[in-house]
Amino acid sequence: MSGTYTYQFDTPVFKGSSTIHTGLFIGGKWVDPVEATGIVITPIAGGTKADVDLAVDAAKKAYKTSWGLKCPGAERGKLINKLADLIEKNIDEFAAWETLNTGKVYMYSKFADISSTIRVLRYYAGWADKNQGKVIETKDTKLAYSRHEPYGVVGQIIPWNFPLAMLSWKIGPALATGNTIVLKPSEITPLTALRLCDLVNEAGFPPGVVNIVNGYGHTVGQAISEHPAIEKVAFTGSTLTGRKILKASAETNLKVVTLELGGKSPTVIFDDADLDLAVKWASSGIFFNMGQSCTAGSRILVQEGIYDKFLENFTAVTQKLSDGTGDPFTPGTLHGPQVSKVQFDRVMSYIESGKQEGANVIIGGERHGDQGYFIKPTLFTDTTPEMKIVREEIFGPVAVIVKFKTEEEAIEIANDTVYGLACHVFSQNVSRAIRVAHALEAGSAWVNCAQDTEVCVPFGGYKQSGIGRELGEYALQTITLLESSNSSA
Ligand code: NAD
Repeated sequence: MSGTYTYQFDTPVFKGSSTIHTGLFIGGKWVDPVEATGIVITPIAGGTKADVDLAVDAAKKAYKTSWGLKCPGAERGKLINKLADLIEKNIDEFAAWETLNTGKVYMYSKFADISSTIRVLRYYAGWADKNQGKVIETKDTKLAYSRHEPYGVVGQIIPWNFPLAMLSWKIGPALATGNTIVLKPSEITPLTALRLCDLVNEAGFPPGVVNIVNGYGHTVGQAISEHPAIEKVAFTGSTLTGRKILKASAETNLKVVTLELGGKSPTVIFDDADLDLAVKWASSGIFFNMGQSCTAGSRILVQEGIYDKFLENFTAVTQKLSDGTGDPFTPGTLHGPQVSKVQFDRVMSYIESGKQEGANVIIGGERHGDQGYFIKPTLFTDTTPEMKIVREEIFGPVAVIVKFKTEEEAIEIANDTVYGLACHVFSQNVSRAIRVAHALEAGSAWVNCAQDTEVCVPFGGYKQSGIGRELGEYALQTITLLESSNSSA
């Protein structure tokens, strides 16, 4: 179970041997799961509730003795920066593990996932000594002020689509504000989190500040969600699992839960948009990471005057992307496989349902080759609002293209969804772009660009896409308790 796993990378972009530990990282040490569960993903150990208990104990002890208010913010920031430096020093190796983990194209692993992980950690390292409350004036004989206190031990549960980057969104603000952590990576993609643990020790974090317990959602994830000593859980994943975590919180200790969930985000392109720009961004808006992105612009609404030209150019760009499908480690590859067979089957079943319900496949609509889990970038037209491919999150390289006449109609179609994570608006008319961005029910609105997440800008969903915000200064508020002090002189 707990041992090491060495992989000999012999790829055009990274060569060399790299080793990860495969156990659970609790209290700064590699340990075996308490019980052998038989749940082993290749050579990776899966934990159980008993391991979560141990991890919470280690995190509690670390919080009281060497972190939280026992460790000055500047010192916490130094350690987080050190961790970022160590990842940067090993960026090629991390990118290779991330590609092995997920199948994503190596250049994106390196320049999107791992690079953004480093940026996020450095950003929150900078906040570590700036966690300030307010002085509140009441009467002249009173002193009132507010303080942001860490929760103590926080639970964090993350998905498989951006494994290390999502981990950094979670641990960055939590560590900066003095919380200790019990984190569960996705059972599908545990590798980069495991590699990170050795660097946590090398950076010099006190044992127990960061604990990584791999395992399944219904075991480790559920144990974190129900744990009575965890007062805050931060979750990223599907809306279905988000409901289960909220329920677990309601039925146990009413822990505070933030949820970053799914989406079915609209991309609205007006007649007066810069066509080339709109085509370029609409393409990365849906096909980045093989469509496995929560903010993917999977419903592309195009105004009638530009529709034919957009469709022609967008199809041509999609064909180029499709021609670039292949081994994610080969330089020049543009489009890789879906993360797993389950995901592949799920996306293919949506494509079938679109065809059966009468939508028209403009390009793609089938697997690429007969090996692996590659799906051709796919565009549907002639959809109706009730179709599954229009309403449900597919989480794959599949978009529907819908023609509209007026601004009002575009807003109505775009908002006709239970989700509200993101939207993209393309127009050269600044007034219209801002007006429409505000009218769309989404937590993130991107104008003349798409999925352009910045660490300093808050991120999160409206409607069934989530509760709470991550990134930016706002993340510090969602990961701390607010205490008000009101003293009489
Ligand atoms: P998922 O909900 O299946 O799994 C996410 C995590 O939750 C995994 O670690 C899983 O093991 C765990 N989990 C599963 N059941 C659990 C339970 N009962 N209790 C506790 N934990 C449990 O999601 P996924 O398939 O890994 O990821 C895809 C989904 O994530 C998509 O819907 C996508 O939109 C969403 N997502 C959202 C964001 C965002 O920031 N809003 C970012 C990335 C992904």
